[in-house]
Formats: sequence, C-alpha cells, structure tokens
Amino acid sequence: MKVSRRDFIQVGTAAASACAVSAQSPRRDAAEAGLASINLDPNQRILLRGGTIVSMDPAVGDFVQGDILIQGKKIAAVGTNVKTPGPAPRVIDASNTILIPGFIDCHRHSWEGVLRRIIPNGDIAKYTATTHQGFAQYYRPRDMYIGNLITALGCIDAGITCIIDNSHNSRSAAHSDAALQALFDSGIRAVHASGPPQREPWDHQWPQDLERLRKRFFSSDDQLVTLRMFSGLDRENYRAARKLGLRITTEFQGAAAAATLEQFWEEKLLGPDITYNHCGGLTDRAWQRIRESGGTVDVCPRSDPQYGLGDGLPAFQQALDHGIRPGLSVDNEVSYGTDMFTEMRVVFNIQRAFATNRRVNGDANPPRMVNVRDVLECGTVNGAACAGLTAKCGTLSPGKEADIVMIRTDDFNLYPSNNALGTVVAAADIKNVDTVIIGGVIRKSGGKMIGVNWSRLRPQIDESRNYLFQKAGYKLDIFSA
Ligand SMILES: [Zn+2]
Repeated sequence: MKVSRRDFIQVGTAAASACAVSAQSPRRDAAEAGLASINLDPNQRILLRGGTIVSMDPAVGDFVQGDILIQGKKIAAVGTNVKTPGPAPRVIDASNTILIPGFIDCHRHSWEGVLRRIIPNGDIAKYTATTHQGFAQYYRPRDMYIGNLITALGCIDAGITCIIDNSHNSRSAAHSDAALQALFDSGIRAVHASGPPQREPWDHQWPQDLERLRKRFFSSDDQLVTLRMFSGLDRENYRAARKLGLRITTEFQGAAAAATLEQFWEEKLLGPDITYNHCGGLTDRAWQRIRESGGTVDVCPRSDPQYGLGDGLPAFQQALDHGIRPGLSVDNEVSYGTDMFTEMRVVFNIQRAFATNRRVNGDANPPRMVNVRDVLECGTVNGAACAGLTAKCGTLSPGKEADIVMIRTDDFNLYPSNNALGTVVAAADIKNVDTVIIGGVIRKSGGKMIGVNWSRLRPQIDESRNYLFQKAGYKLDIFSA
C-alpha cells in the first residue's frame, strides 16, 4: 500500500536499530511488573451458585437459575442445584449475574498496546505508517512485553478470556520471548501467532525461530498459551508451519488476495489449519474455497469500517451466505477500545441494516436478520474454532476448561434483567463484568482485577510509551486530529 509522506509519523533523525537497543532482558519477572503469580490448585472446587447460565452448548442448555461446579481447571457440572459430594467447595454467589463462556478475540495485535487510541481517525495508510513503518522499528523486547501485557490485562478486565495474538513485530528472538512471557504472566488464554515485522532492521530469525519457540515454551499442549504462525499467503511459510505442526493465521482481503487463494487451492495448500482474518471484498469462489478446505474465518466489525478495508463492510454477511460461522476480532486498540460487547453490537446492527436495505431495495431473497444468540455464538463458540481450542473453551460444558464470565445484572444500566442474551449482547458493558475465570483461576472478582499491582505497573507502561515516543520523535498531542 502506498503511504503518503504526511501520513508518516514524525520520526527523529537518530535512526535506531531495534535489535541493537534491545539490551534489556526479555524475561521480565512477573513480580517486577506488578503481577502476583497465581497457581492453580488442581484439587480446588468452586461452586458458582444461582446464576442465569447461558452455556452456548445445546447439549447443556440454558438455566434461569443454575450452578456451575469447577474442579481444578475444568467445569465438572452445570445445572440446577448441582450436587457437590465430598469436601465442601468454595461457594461464589452468582445471583443477579449471567454466566457466559469467556469471549474469544480471534485477532489482536497485542504488541501495539501502548499505542492505544493514538490515531482515532486513522485509515489503513495512517495505521501502517504509525505502527509497522513508524513505532514498530523502535520496539525493544521490553516494549513487546509491556504492550502484550496491558493488552492481555485489558482483555481479561473486559471478559475476553482468550485471544489470538497476531504478533507481527518479531524483530528478534528476544522480542518473541518477551511477547510470549507477557501472555504467560498475564494469565490469559492465548494463541501466540508469531509473525515477521514489515520494516527493517530486524534479525531475520523468523520463521526458523518458531522451532526454538516451540521447544522453549511449548513442551506441553496442556497450558494456557499455544503457538501458531502468522503469515500472508506464502508457500514457504505455510510449509514451515506445517512441518512444525503449527496452525496458521492469514489476514487478507480483496480481489487480488482472492486470486492468490485460488492458486493455493489448486496447489492443495489450503486446509482446516488456517484461520483467515478480515476477508472483506472476496469473490464467491474464494469463499467457497475457504469453506471447502475447512478454514475458519474471523471478521472485524470495527476494524474494516475504521480503516477502510475490503469493500468497506465487515465480511459477516458474506461468511454467513457461504455457510461459514465466523468469529469476531478487535484487531487492535490504536483507534478504539478492547471491547467484545461493542464488536457484537456493531456486527449485529450492520447486518440488520444490510438485510433491511436489501429487502427494501427489491431483493427477492434478502438474508434473515441475525439475532443476539447468533452474535454471542460468534464471540464465543466460533472464536474457539478459530483458535483451534473447541475442545477446551467456547462453551460452558462439563469437561471443558473453566473460562467463565459473570455479568452483573443488578447494576444501574442493566436492572431489571428481562432477557439474558439481550442483556449480554445488546446492553452490558465492561463495568458489568464482575468475575472472570480462566482455566479455573479467578482473574477478576467483584469488578476488580486479581493479582495486578496497577500502581507498580503503570510507571513501567509510561516508561515504555515515553521511550517509544522519544525514539520516534513523536510529540504527544492529546487533541490531535
Ligand atoms: Zn490485523
């Protein structure tokens, strides 16, 4: 993409090599960052009692008032008046709350965390100039750590229990290590999709470094963080990922990408191990290829309209038209917030506007309007499929890991609660997220994050941001257009 000169951020004359300045240790101690280490008690028993349960699992169903028993890291039982033989569990009063599976954000560039809302009016040119062509080159491993950490903590606070971290600033092995360490330290469930930076200088250790990362961090699959590759449609990269048994995330949109996809189809390079981000403006044929190959798709309700991607509309309707149930993704926070509630609302309203528009303009076969359950499914179940984690999360099902969000319904904006799905999808907000549990560990309780020393962490965020601003010669203008 051609980027006009004035779209570039102000860059200082002292060109710095990101790799040369990465003197600080990539392994930041979680305690130093203000994070308490919370160890899961494998024998713990927690009973969430008397909440309205939206399980998103048809085999489990929903309950006006029900209980969820957590044993260790897993959901042991869901139902009314769940029996708890044996030692008494810790009981958490879930009355006046709605229990849902944790939200899953299928596509987030977590490293950009310290750049929150720096370009609220940005389009794709401005985004690229600010991130890939701008600040990215100055990132130290430490900045990767801080960016990933605050993104992950913001997600947990908002009830997003799982993210696919599309980490396209892997400038050195130490940068990848730091990004991963932050995900582990935060307590979020994450798929780290390791990708290369888009601008020199960098160590060119990627993609071969994926093998080292796998050995160092992923000796077991039985952990919250897993690994995959982030790559465009690239034969060599795809081969490298598959040799290591890694899934792939590819982000693309438009007719040119659709043509390349067709070539990949003919070469038998497409498969169910690929997740596609964005997907706006694709041809019908490209959608068929994605479906026939078993690929998963996440659409970007805010990102696509914000940055002017694809054909301008999130690809939600196209996905549905081609028999694909997509996940949702926030993409980044450089222009807007970390909020799955808003993503659900935007996609709900755009789809209904689109369906109505087709009907009133004489379309004999307009799409049906989606409902709130369809949209919550995108934010949970379909997201788990994109993450390759359907066996572990996405629904409140016995045997799955306990990734659970409790939403308060007795707050000023939600009381009285007359419809559970409507409350969650069409009305609730981050402030109503009372409790967040990930893999059986309570990360937020009573509306407060657990184990995060915010006053200790904040100066470290400031240091990272100030360092990046200074290296890039960027003058903060809080009212910039
Ligand atoms: Zn993206």
